[in-house]
Amino acid sequence: MFGRAVSVPLFWVIEEGVAPRYHEILSRHNMVFHRPLVVTGGSATAQLAEETFTGLPTVAVRSNSIKEVERVKSEARQIGADLLIGFGGGKVIDTAKMAATELNLPFLSMPTATSNDALASPVAVIDFGEYVKSMGATAPLGVIADLSLLRSQPKAQFLAGIGDLFSNMSALMDWKLASEKGYERLDPVAAYLSRNAVENLLRAIESGEDLHPVVVEGLIVSGVAMILAGNSRPCSGAEHLISHALDLMESHSLHGLQVGLASFFTLRLHGCEYQTYQRLLSGVGFPSCWQALGITDSQFMEAVKYAPKTRSGRYTVLSEIDPLVLEEAYYEVYGVGSCGDGERL
Ligand SMILES: [Zn+2]
Repeated sequence: MFGRAVSVPLFWVIEEGVAPRYHEILSRHNMVFHRPLVVTGGSATAQLAEETFTGLPTVAVRSNSIKEVERVKSEARQIGADLLIGFGGGKVIDTAKMAATELNLPFLSMPTATSNDALASPVAVIDFGEYVKSMGATAPLGVIADLSLLRSQPKAQFLAGIGDLFSNMSALMDWKLASEKGYERLDPVAAYLSRNAVENLLRAIESGEDLHPVVVEGLIVSGVAMILAGNSRPCSGAEHLISHALDLMESHSLHGLQVGLASFFTLRLHGCEYQTYQRLLSGVGFPSCWQALGITDSQFMEAVKYAPKTRSGRYTVLSEIDPLVLEEAYYEVYGVGSCGDGERL
């Protein structure tokens, strides 16, 4: 028998005001839990959690550190939790997902921000103090995304989600390249899902659609693509390596903003016509130069050079590019001098 033995989310519900109906949605999918533990974030999110999950035990985490993962695990053991609900931004989702994985408990993802594709991915980014590591994790059993909460997230977070989704475009080029060179096998189903997610986004921007549901669905589908591929290849290429290198520096920004902005550069290195995407994305407020994120030309170039070292063995366009063309590509893509007024995020 040939096939895949992977767990993908059983459902996702993206609606206005849906969060308080989480129980009804779980029942509709024949899931009954007796002792859920809600994992949430800082005071504003914790307040929202209190209003949404009346009477349920809640633990508020301050970061995605391994210490916080341990705290959630001990709280969950203490109350005999049979489900962990991650209610918050990317760091909350990652912490809850990691704790659920280690306790072998089901995990329900309820994002209040869409800044990256952690919502349904099989990966949790955990801070170990000395270093930050992407850990393999169980995918959520479902995702409930309340559009009315997502609409009030900070603009930079929303744009970061657009950037992480857009980066699929560059990641897919790298995956194809690595597969053509015989380093990796390209999974056509996973690649299709990843491509479809980013193409839906571009289409929605072009037609002026409401982007919130498109972004959240695209990020969930990206997570499913990674589950099917068994790695992050469908959504992570050279642009992610550059972002990982930037994260090691003092001045860095949101993951999604970095990978999205770096994608214009990596697409250019692939010889793609990146300008149309750049125009489309700047139409919705996405930055077009690094100064907007507080990152200088030289910091970016340093990150590009260091990028392949952040993940040895991952073959991307940076593995075969002549270093002499990097600077020329930089100025072609991002221009010379500072950003336009009001671009700073
Ligand atoms: Zn990403």
